[in-house]
Amino acid sequence: MRFDRIEIIRPGDSSGNNMIVRATLSSGRTIYGFATDNLYGGDWDWDLGPTWNYLVTADRPFLVDAGRRGKGRELIGMIESVGFSPRDIDAIVVSHGHEDHDGGILELAGVTQARVKAHEIYGCLVRPLAKSAPSSEKAQFPVSCWCCPMPASFARHNCLEYHEERPQLNIEPMSMNGELGAGIEVLHTPGHSPDAVALLIDGEALLPGDTILPDISPHPSQERFFTVVRPALPGNWKEAQQLFGLRAYIRSLKRIEQLAGASEDILVLSAHRLYYRDRLNLLGLKDRIAELVQHHRDRCSDFARILSTGPKSLKEVAAEHFRPELLKGHGINLAADEVASHCELMEAGGDVVFGEEGKIMSTGTQNFLSLIDGIR
Ligand SMILES: [Zn+2]
Ligand SMILES: [Zn+2]
Repeated sequence: MRFDRIEIIRPGDSSGNNMIVRATLSSGRTIYGFATDNLYGGDWDWDLGPTWNYLVTADRPFLVDAGRRGKGRELIGMIESVGFSPRDIDAIVVSHGHEDHDGGILELAGVTQARVKAHEIYGCLVRPLAKSAPSSEKAQFPVSCWCCPMPASFARHNCLEYHEERPQLNIEPMSMNGELGAGIEVLHTPGHSPDAVALLIDGEALLPGDTILPDISPHPSQERFFTVVRPALPGNWKEAQQLFGLRAYIRSLKRIEQLAGASEDILVLSAHRLYYRDRLNLLGLKDRIAELVQHHRDRCSDFARILSTGPKSLKEVAAEHFRPELLKGHGINLAADEVASHCELMEAGGDVVFGEEGKIMSTGTQNFLSLIDGIR
């Protein structure tokens, strides 16, 4: 990988907050990266670092992501500082429907008049659908937030405006190819989020959203979410693993690898941690994908070990596997969700059974290893 293709044109703090970078491709195209600070960063141990939003130059330049809610203005200042006017932005592409990426879109779209483009699933999930909500507490939540692991108190404090704003978006479902201009390929990459997309630019730069990050492995969703949100989905989505869960996530990684083809030299511009702890984090794509797949194999293996001593709840498995500092506060909910994603895959392989009272039981097999290898 060539480090000379990316330069820091405005410094930020040690995590990269407020930093601007510029990547120049051999095709002649320029991509700017703007780091906006992130709720899920900073003061707790599941720190992702700032959100990296990217401006891709083209006949009709477009932005990928808009930071979290309240970051729209800041992003406009950053766009102007590299010589673009907000009106130059033709479209805002949503990498996936998480607040740290789409929270700033309504504000930004208002100023730029840009069109908002996203995978068709995104548009299905941004609105509430009270009659099918899993609980009355979630009746006014957008469908995408029905399965959020955070408690209602967190949502009341952090997400109300977000919930109210997103249904106002005018979203154009994005066809997967050609629509963003010549040289831009769009790949649906569900798993972390059902509406996730990755963009390959001129075969040289990959914008994978949260699907591939340096240092950290993105939180996989769960296949069981499919049944919950299905009333909001078009009928052509028939199977959970087309959109949700660890199997979908691993399949997306393998598809990205396929899309990248033989090229050894892809510049990976991730949506977090592009710069962290005072250094740029540039990835070798194939190596990073292999590491991520191995990480999930290892995690399943450790859960199998923990369950070999007897049935345990998700939280009990989480408490044995994760470092105590990751379990503080809301951390235990995220950790239990992570265990659930892996146990679903192991259940599909016949390695565990979800029993009475939320306990998971090992069957003694380790079919998950060949199951992961066989995902295509
Ligand atoms: Zn995300
Ligand atoms: Zn994110």
